Amino acid sequence: MTIPNSQTWGKEQSPRDSGPFTLELTRTTQVGARKVYIQWQLRNGTQAIGYNFTVYRAGSPSGPWEPVVAGLTDVYYFLDDTYPAPTDRTEPALMSLHNVIYYKVHVTNSIDGEAEASQIIEGGLDRRRRSMVKKLRRDAWIKIRKGSGTEVAVLKRRWWGTECDCKTKTGVVTRAHCSKCNGTGIIDGHGYWNPTYTFGKRSASNLMAQTTSEGKTEANRILVTIPYIPRVEPEDVLVFLRDDKRFMVENVSLTELHSVTVHQELQVTELAKSAREYNMLVDNWHDPQWF
Ligand SMILES: [Zn+2]
Repeated sequence: MTIPNSQTWGKEQSPRDSGPFTLELTRTTQVGARKVYIQWQLRNGTQAIGYNFTVYRAGSPSGPWEPVVAGLTDVYYFLDDTYPAPTDRTEPALMSLHNVIYYKVHVTNSIDGEAEASQIIEGGLDRRRRSMVKKLRRDAWIKIRKGSGTEVAVLKRRWWGTECDCKTKTGVVTRAHCSKCNGTGIIDGHGYWNPTYTFGKRSASNLMAQTTSEGKTEANRILVTIPYIPRVEPEDVLVFLRDDKRFMVENVSLTELHSVTVHQELQVTELAKSAREYNMLVDNWHDPQWF
């Protein structure tokens, strides 16, 4: 079982340009009685397009693997809403899944080859612990939603896709604010996935008092607390829907309650109003519904 890193400082989680092509499962989170959110990240993919994902489920780490969905392209997560409810006795094959549930995501590409990763559903082997994990995360979600949190769109930065022509042969983006890729080097979606929506709580932080090596006060650096999903990584962009303030994620740490990770604490920097990231469209009236 892959335990999420307690801290993902800086760009340590960012894909490198060298190393094997791998797929990493970043979430297998139950978000409802019959819903499991599965999120992944590709590392060192070299191709623009043509990644094809299959999601499987099994009752043991060695299978047999039952395909849940096949032929997914151009996505980084999947919501399995056919996860069997504990009381579902109509399908004996699904009942056998109740003791242990593993998810596997397999990716193929004609150039990069294939990669896959599997992971036990978060909460592990014990069904009571799984429902406790689900409840703690749901409660944490409600706390942010009903508390001082407001609606947030998460723009996940793309790490694979069609390369922008502002990228040099060595892979360096030559124009930081290129209009086609927003400095990501990838032109699909202008460098970002379609928004996913959640809630977030901004807090003024002591970071405001810090000074950089250049001697400038970084007054636009704050902390944001968001729920556990979707998994956020450095260089993703957060949009607060009520005032349209946009922030770049710098690092992510996870907070625990009763040994269960329930929140993501993000250190973010406010983007200048002139930043190209303000051109990306979000639905300012979206009501996030995860639980
Ligand atoms: Zn570009």
